[in-house]
Amino acid sequence: ASARVDAAYFESYSFFDIHRDMLSDKARTEAYQAALEQNPQLMQGARVLDVGCGTGILSMFAARAGASRVVGVDGSSRIAEVARQNVLANGLGDRVSIVSGRVEAVEELDVPGSKVDVLVSEWMGYALLFESMLDSVLAARDRFLVPGGAILPDQASIYVAGGGPAAGGLSFWDEVYGFSMAPVKGTLQAAAEREALVRLVRAEDLVTEPQNLHTFDLATMSCADQDFSATFQLRPRPGSAGACHAIVVWFDTAFSLRFCKDRPVVLDTSPTGQPTHWAQTILVLREALVLDAATGQSVCGRLSFNRNKAKHRSLDITLQVAAMRVGQESTEDVLASSAA
Ligand code: SAH
Repeated sequence: ASARVDAAYFESYSFFDIHRDMLSDKARTEAYQAALEQNPQLMQGARVLDVGCGTGILSMFAARAGASRVVGVDGSSRIAEVARQNVLANGLGDRVSIVSGRVEAVEELDVPGSKVDVLVSEWMGYALLFESMLDSVLAARDRFLVPGGAILPDQASIYVAGGGPAAGGLSFWDEVYGFSMAPVKGTLQAAAEREALVRLVRAEDLVTEPQNLHTFDLATMSCADQDFSATFQLRPRPGSAGACHAIVVWFDTAFSLRFCKDRPVVLDTSPTGQPTHWAQTILVLREALVLDAATGQSVCGRLSFNRNKAKHRSLDITLQVAAMRVGQESTEDVLASSAA
């Protein structure tokens, strides 16, 4: 089953449209471009590995930034061949080589010393970890990056905030040309309670302050760290009226000062930033929770992320939430009493 999932996964990357969508995502592509092309101390003369090179864009940024040798690897053979042709079409064939195959299957890298100084990859999925290829990136890090070498990006953070009635898009069905389409809303609500929604949330549809849920250090983390659980306590946003209908999840990735000393960069997928193809991930609540900015009544809860054991590219997100009354101090206590 796992092999079948992987075949479908790599097949999906063999079409031009998905690469066009990623390349046209300016927030995404320009963040990588800035990190690679505006950090000469890091990139001049560097040996670079691009894990999941797709069309070869990051490999070519690296070459243009002065890398001495770049190897791009892609498990989708059709797109790897495209990357190879793109490299040649841009006269970079002497410095960039493209390998077709899963990075896990690469035995030796065609660079001096068969290790690299910089590993770059665009591996992020919805809610950071859905369909994630992070396992492959971490395995490549451990095999091919020199000790102390740079991984780009080097940090990834997950954030949460409470969303109002419009955050999941379901309130659209409340009033359609003067009619209620409550049956449609009911069907979608039921589906959304089981499977997270992915869509853009407007900043004004957040009803709480955002909070950092978890941060990964990509230079040191292990694959097992992707399964985690963390609590949150979300305070009402000043001036926002109304109830919390959903928990909105997003991420950012940082190319921090640790490796990008000339120009650190953050790729942000929050509702307040430039929209990206990741949009936001929305966990619709079964029942809305009342918020009260005047008294500071907040929403607290716990989120667990677990990679699905049977379907390894799927992600199980478990959410527990409750309204926290004024004077209640501990998220753990509130969750325990709401579960009882
Ligand atoms: N770097 C490109 C493409 C990013 S999409 C860009 O920034 O535009 C991720 C790519 O990684 C896909 O083309 C996919 O086929 C590839 N990929 C995913 N897992 C991989 C693995 N284990 N080995 C090699 N390539 C992989």
